[in-house]
Amino acid sequence: MTSARIYLDIKLICIFLVWLNGPLFSQPEKLILVDALVFDGQRMQKDWVVVCEEGTISYAGPKDAFQGDLKNAHSLEGHTVLPGMIEGHSHLLLHPYNETSWNDQVLKESYTERALRGANHALKTLQAGFTTTRDLGSEGAGYVDVMLKKSIEKGIVPGPRILAAGRAIVSTGSYGPKGFAPHVIVPLGAEEADADNMVKVVRNQIGHGIDLVKVYADYRWGPFGQAAPTFSEAEIRLIVETAASSGRHVVAHASTAEGMRRATLAGVRTIEHGDGGTPEVFRLMRDRGVALCPTLAAGDAIMQYRGWRKGVEAEPPRILQKRRSFKAALDAEVTICAGGDVGVFSHGDNVRELEIMVDYGMSSIDVLRSVTSINAEVFELDKLGYLREGYIADLIIVKGNPVEEISNLRNVVQVVQSGHLVAGTR
Ligand SMILES: [Zn+2]
Repeated sequence: MTSARIYLDIKLICIFLVWLNGPLFSQPEKLILVDALVFDGQRMQKDWVVVCEEGTISYAGPKDAFQGDLKNAHSLEGHTVLPGMIEGHSHLLLHPYNETSWNDQVLKESYTERALRGANHALKTLQAGFTTTRDLGSEGAGYVDVMLKKSIEKGIVPGPRILAAGRAIVSTGSYGPKGFAPHVIVPLGAEEADADNMVKVVRNQIGHGIDLVKVYADYRWGPFGQAAPTFSEAEIRLIVETAASSGRHVVAHASTAEGMRRATLAGVRTIEHGDGGTPEVFRLMRDRGVALCPTLAAGDAIMQYRGWRKGVEAEPPRILQKRRSFKAALDAEVTICAGGDVGVFSHGDNVRELEIMVDYGMSSIDVLRSVTSINAEVFELDKLGYLREGYIADLIIVKGNPVEEISNLRNVVQVVQSGHLVAGTR
């Protein structure tokens, strides 16, 4: 075979691969989008133009008012343009528990394996349209999440922007892995701390580069294995005050009403899960400006791992309780973030949470607000979550209208992050 022939073959293979995995259009200096529905972070707009230049949105508004040239515009009839979605609760270093149990991931997988898996998960997250994620705990992998974030920032691997929680804080005696003989010392899935060393542990985590502190306000350590509060309100307040003086906020895992109440009074930013939330505690959260990140998809996944055949068998009590408490949170007008605890289920399947939010009673337009502008505001992400002039050019293009059918968010045809097209999203 001649070298020219080999060259031609390689060129054809490259063209084929670009066709298979490449972006919807090639990287332009200026990206002009027309004829699509536009969700601007608040509401759905028609006849809008969106323009990205040098990583920034330079125009997002009515076509009538647009002064520029539309000669090189991309017509996106039948599509919707939205801000890059923001995952509110991920664990990039975990993978589904029906593949490998949580215990085995924490005890048997090396940091190297977990980092490499994390890089794969980060790419899948980005390709699913989530350009930012709040990653809430490395689950036994030290500060590998912070290192993954830095690797993405350096351009070593593609992935979403990450807000990393690092090791997370648990009270002594509460967290797993558990069930070993007393003389066996096992590494834990988070860092233990109590009133006497709390300040030092928080500061040490901050020194390792975390963006926020995660605390477990309750855990399954009751005498019958039930969830019960861990830290006192004063202990959580100490965490909040220590974190706040460095400009960081605190998120609390809590599924009991009492754990939620203590965390709310102590001043955390968000409560994760909230399964046992009562109307009273949700009203308290609303009054104190504490948001709920409901993680509906995690329970949905775990119950199926335990044998529940969704759609075939009746919903188990845990799912019915979750429906009730989520409805109580909506009725109390608590700010609702969107975050699924992805990692418990497959990375890249993040939209599953949004579908269940609609299934459990939230309107699809409110779900879109949660996963864009509300998450951005609650997480204090500057210039993200909206399609507005001067904002960072993170946007996605999906086929169809996600307000009519939320699952259309799965039909991602292009992801743009800081103005750059993400490959492999068609
Ligand atoms: Zn979690």
